[in-house]
Amino acid sequence: MNKTVFPTQRLSSEKLAALLQNRDVSELSFPELVRLYREEPGLADFRPDGDYQIDPRNGERILFNAARARRPHDNRPAAEKPVASPERPCVVCQGRTTGIIDVVALSEGVTFINKNLYPLLFPVAECLPGQVQGLHLLQWTSSLHDRDWHNLPLGDCVVVLERLAALEELLRTSGAEEFPLEAANPTGERAFVSIIKNYGHLVGGSLAHGHQQIALSNIIPRRFLDNWRFEQEHGETFAAYMLRRNPPELLVRDYGPAVLLVSYFMRRPYNMLLILKDVERRYLHELSAVEIEAVAAGWRDAIRAIRDIMPRIGRETAYNVVTHNGPGAGLYFEFLPYTQEIGGYEQLGLFICQERPENVAAQLRETLNADRAAGLSREDYEHAT
Ligand SMILES: [Zn+2]
Repeated sequence: MNKTVFPTQRLSSEKLAALLQNRDVSELSFPELVRLYREEPGLADFRPDGDYQIDPRNGERILFNAARARRPHDNRPAAEKPVASPERPCVVCQGRTTGIIDVVALSEGVTFINKNLYPLLFPVAECLPGQVQGLHLLQWTSSLHDRDWHNLPLGDCVVVLERLAALEELLRTSGAEEFPLEAANPTGERAFVSIIKNYGHLVGGSLAHGHQQIALSNIIPRRFLDNWRFEQEHGETFAAYMLRRNPPELLVRDYGPAVLLVSYFMRRPYNMLLILKDVERRYLHELSAVEIEAVAAGWRDAIRAIRDIMPRIGRETAYNVVTHNGPGAGLYFEFLPYTQEIGGYEQLGLFICQERPENVAAQLRETLNADRAAGLSREDYEHAT
């Protein structure tokens, strides 16, 4: 591959200081967060429409948001110019982003959280029935443009996950009381924290600078409802079911408190699940230090494997990560590389998967073992020199 050499883009400490509103999200009150959110310059111009509908067949929630069509993209395929080249600068590295509410140092640079300028949700002053209320935030994995889960040291990935857990705690525990209960939600839970990652323009990633998205909403995402219903019907969480039921040959890696695996019902090649073994866990902020480390290692490995495999199978690298927290899930994460299009049969709920789970699990184990061996030999080399 022909790579142009130019200095690593990053959000400088001067630009970061100019955006800094708060250092530690766990010291922020929910009303204070809402105030900062409402007062963010420009954010209200991109407010969502504010209403939503439910598909009566399956409970999917549809949010209307005309303003989001106007948001900028810097993540189109690099046809003419490489992403974030000097001619195509990154808005985040330039400091053209929103006020920061959490920042922690990594081994190099920092990880930080701010508001999404093009929010899915807005904390309206008065939420009427049929309306949506919430917040939409972003966690930038690193202030260095080209650093993300796959190329950060594990210790840094742990810090990133800890900050995500701290934000989840603030949103869920203090955010929950402020919100009206959605009429069509049978779970009794009042507020939902949806944590996702989009990478690649093919799957909704509009900016190249590595990030996670965190949304707090008074309405329940359909998959959360699925998890809740699963537990009602089966008398155990989905995590407990998978740990008991998934064939052992589909295990990719065991981290002690968590396992990375391919499910026996894999819909798309290389889809993976990372599941906490303690099925009483429901949220990131409930995890112990060893559990956080296991989850961070799982995220890092899954993303490394996806980035390694997709170019080899002739696919542009693109994936989503989704977090299943809340009622009925246990706690688990799905890694969904875009390895196959969604066709008409899939729209009918009839998935045709072009690979077998056992082959994929074997390839993923091989990729991660080769990666680990390469990492070890690199460490040996660094110790020797
Ligand atoms: Zn950047």
